[in-house]
Amino acid sequence: MDKITLHLDEARALSHQCLLANGCDDANAAATTDVMIAAEGDGCPSHGLFRLPGYVTALRSGRVDGRADPSIERIAGAVVRVDGRGGFAPLALVRGRQPLIEAARENGIAALSLAGIFHFAALWPETEAIAQEGLCALAVTASRSLVAPAGGTSALFGTNPMAFGWPRKDGPPMVFDQAVSVMAQGEVMIAAREGHELAPGVALDSEGRPTIDAKAAIEGVLLPFGGYKGSAIGIMIELLAAGLLGENFAFEASETTPNDGGPGRGGELMIAMDPARFGDAVGWLAHSEQFFERMLAQDGVRLPGDRRHANRARIMASGFSIPTALHENILHLTEAV
Ligand code: NDP
Repeated sequence: MDKITLHLDEARALSHQCLLANGCDDANAAATTDVMIAAEGDGCPSHGLFRLPGYVTALRSGRVDGRADPSIERIAGAVVRVDGRGGFAPLALVRGRQPLIEAARENGIAALSLAGIFHFAALWPETEAIAQEGLCALAVTASRSLVAPAGGTSALFGTNPMAFGWPRKDGPPMVFDQAVSVMAQGEVMIAAREGHELAPGVALDSEGRPTIDAKAAIEGVLLPFGGYKGSAIGIMIELLAAGLLGENFAFEASETTPNDGGPGRGGELMIAMDPARFGDAVGWLAHSEQFFERMLAQDGVRLPGDRRHANRARIMASGFSIPTALHENILHLTEAV
C-alpha cells in the first residue's frame, strides 16, 4: 500500500481545512482536529485522520452540527452537564473540562454529564488532560451497536470504550483506554483495508459463526473481551453513558443513524476525583508510585500508555504515514463540497 508521510502541523492544517470546508466553524474544526492529531501523534491511527471521512459524512448528511455551541450547567453540587447541542464531542469536552476540574477540587469528586454529542474518537486525550491536572479520571461512552452480549450473536452494545487516568510523580499520567470488544471497530476496519486476518475470538460473521476474516467481521458482530466479564462491563457502560444521562443506548444510536461510517449520537460520563481529598492527602502520590515500581519490577510488564508515550517524541520529530488513498480522499473532500 502506498503511503505518504505527514508532519503533525501539516496534518493539523489538512484536517482543519477539510472540516471548515464541510461546515464546521473554527472552534469545532480545531477541537475535532486536536483529537485526531493527538491520536496520530501517539501512534493510534485508528482514531487519527482515518476518522476524518466519517466526520465529513456526518456533517454532509446534516445530522451533526459543525457549528454547535455547547452549553454548560452545574445541575447538582458536583455534577456538570454539557449539552453538546448536536455537535461532535471534542468541543463539548473542551468546554466541560475546567468546570469538571473545579467541581472535583471543590467536592473531592465530580462528574461531567455530556449529552447531545457525536463521539468518534479515542478517550485517552480527555482522560489524560484531567489526570495532568493531578486528578484521577474515568471516562465512558457508548457508541453504536457492534458487540454481542455474552452468549448472543447479534449486536447490542457499542464498542463502548472506557479510559482511566492516574497522575504520576514524574512524567505523564498512567492512562489506559480500551474498548469493550476484544478489538476496536476502527482496528477491524484497518485490518480489512490492509487484508490482515483477525485473531480467533474477535468476531462472528453474519450467520453467527466465529470468523477471522475482517470483512466478514464487519458484516457480522464483534465479541466482548473476556466473555461474560467484558459483557458485564459493556452493560455498565451502556447504563452509565445512556441510562444515567438520558442519552441513546448504542442500539438507539444505531436505529436512528444510517450505517454510513460516521458517528451516532450519544452521551459520555466523566468522573474526576481529587486523590488528596480521600484520606491520604500527603502520601497518596508516593504510595501509588510504590505500586507502579512493584509492578514494573516484573520482567515483561509495562504500563498502559507507555507505547503511546514512546511514539510521541518520535512522531513529533519525524511525522507519521497514512495511506496515499486516504490523503487523496481528504484533499477531495476538502475541494469537492
Ligand atoms: P488496545 O487493546 O489497543 O489497548 C487498550 C489499552 O491497553 C491501552 O491503554 C494500551 O496502552 C494498553 N495495553 C496494550 N497492550 C498492553 C500491554 N502489553 N501491557 C500493558 N498495557 C497494554 O485498545 P482498544 O483496541 O480496545 O481501543 C482502541 C481505541 O479505540 C481506544 O482509544 C478507544 O477509546 C477507542 N474507541 C473509541 C470508541 C468511540 O466510540 N469513541 C469506540 C471504541 C473504541 P498503549 O496505548 O500504550 O498500547
